[in-house]
Amino acid sequence: VQSVSPPSHHLRGLPPADYRGLCLRCGIEHRFENDVALGLTSLKQLFQQLEADPAFADFRSALATTPGKMIGVLIAEDASGTRHTLRAYSGELAGRRDWPGWVGPVLRRADTAELEAETLASIAALDRQIHACDVDGAQHRLAETRAAVRHAGAERRQTYRAQRHAWSIERREGGDEAHFDALLAKAKLEHEEAIRADEARVEEARQALLTEREKLHRFREERRDVSRVLSKAIYDAAAVTNARGERRPLREVFVGDGIAGGTTDCSVPKLLEAANVARLRPVALAEAWWGPTLNDRHHGELQAPCERKCQPILGYLLCGLAGQ
Ligand SMILES: [Zn+2]
Ligand SMILES: [Zn+2]
Repeated sequence: VQSVSPPSHHLRGLPPADYRGLCLRCGIEHRFENDVALGLTSLKQLFQQLEADPAFADFRSALATTPGKMIGVLIAEDASGTRHTLRAYSGELAGRRDWPGWVGPVLRRADTAELEAETLASIAALDRQIHACDVDGAQHRLAETRAAVRHAGAERRQTYRAQRHAWSIERREGGDEAHFDALLAKAKLEHEEAIRADEARVEEARQALLTEREKLHRFREERRDVSRVLSKAIYDAAAVTNARGERRPLREVFVGDGIAGGTTDCSVPKLLEAANVARLRPVALAEAWWGPTLNDRHHGELQAPCERKCQPILGYLLCGLAGQ
């Protein structure tokens, strides 16, 4: 990953003049009028800090290991009129969703932490069982058994024929007929028994292979199922806080069908949720892309909330702002 440190005055574009969205709770659109100039200045400051401030060195190195991130800043006021600066990055950074000095994730993993730990343990156990399934070995043993049976069968047939031939000559040359008939019948019986035993050996090896395959299939299915249960629980526990401080399930507030994966992971929802939880009133909000160009986003380019993940919950996040 290339590291990027262009001059900070290279922020391009402006923050949106307002943020707005339909709120399913109220059935109307809520709107937040953005202080564009303050948003831009604050974001420039943050980009400068990210580029050069020693206090941000660890964060900067972590950023350099990503394919790029949305970086957002929110200036928000408390009841006494004091302004606070909230910072957010999209998704995870170096595996962390809670970098000190930055707002944390909207989805509170603590709600599902126990289930998550149990699930990870089950998955690890299933992985061990999956790993222990020896389909190749069973296949190999079946092939070996078949070859051995073929080989032993050919030898036995040869011996049996030679024996029968020798006995029939002895019999013709005046031996005890009943005696040779008994010998022949016994040899035939033994030969048939040996064939059945061989067939049983092959069948056993074939069954062992089937069992191994079924086990593998079952463990994989089970693994899929436990992951599904966890995803559903995380999804069910997903809730968003509006500006009234009301926490509602994501599935109740998301506008449209099918909640997109990663909804609430972007920087704007993180910032608004954090402000709502802390009962701060948003004043200025801006976000821009940090990192190499990705999906047509360029370093330092200001962005509007994304259509798929942010727009559908923006209305609810703004619900309860003064006069709405
Ligand atoms: Zn988004
Ligand atoms: Zn509302």
